[in-house]
Amino acid sequence: MIKAKKYLGQHFLADKNIAGKIADSLINENALPVLEIGPGTGVLTEKLICKNFNLSLIEIDIESVEYLRKNYDNKFRLIHADFLKTDISKILENEFCVVGNLPYNISSQIFFKILEEKHRIPEVVCMIQKEVAERMASSHGNKTYGILSVIIQLFYKIEYLFTVNENVFIPPPKVKSGVIRLTRYRDHIEGINEKQLLKVVKTAFNQRRKTIRNSLKSILPEKFDFNNHYLSLRPEQLSPEDFVKLTELIYK
Ligand code: SAH
Repeated sequence: MIKAKKYLGQHFLADKNIAGKIADSLINENALPVLEIGPGTGVLTEKLICKNFNLSLIEIDIESVEYLRKNYDNKFRLIHADFLKTDISKILENEFCVVGNLPYNISSQIFFKILEEKHRIPEVVCMIQKEVAERMASSHGNKTYGILSVIIQLFYKIEYLFTVNENVFIPPPKVKSGVIRLTRYRDHIEGINEKQLLKVVKTAFNQRRKTIRNSLKSILPEKFDFNNHYLSLRPEQLSPEDFVKLTELIYK
């Protein structure tokens, strides 16, 4: 077995039933190719193979890559690379689903990257830190509602499926884990420039205790209607669709 490397967020799943449950959670109704991020030593991979998916794996750790090559030859395409730095269109040209027990230290960055490719990713099933999963699924009005909740929920339905305890990993992480499923319901928003939308959301949440009037001061145009009711609210009071409307008002 491989000794886990902390800096790569390696916590290998040791419970095959849970691996099976994660694999079963991927519906993949159109039998699309599946990309697993961070297969490690292949506990989840093995279950994905059983489902006969057209499977590609992307793994940063050479030791895991060599282990996978040795133990499961030819059952998948294996790419030794950093998911965050890889042009995924070079691996998969068309639509695909994403699955993985993600490295928790970079899970937010992974989701931002998934969002960049969302026109090709209709479904994602993954395990992440429980708090992060809850934050993503959180609705407006909650303390945990933030940038990722807004942006993900604008494109994906998000379901919190189940919680996984620390003791089923080697080594055990310090936190509990949660498995979520994202199902895309649209891949763009009519008339919206996503860079502008992201700028509005990020700028608002960067100072989450301030009102929109104060946090967005630098990007509100002169002609903006300063009586607009959004201005007196804090960012967590705006629904994802409110952020879309606010972006329209600012950049129209
Ligand atoms: N899926 C395995 C391993 C999960 S641990 C299991 O459930 O047992 C997270 C895995 O992601 C590790 O194998 C780690 O090497 C890999 N990883 C970390 N950063 C990565 C990156 N940037 N790109 C691809 N894989 C990465």
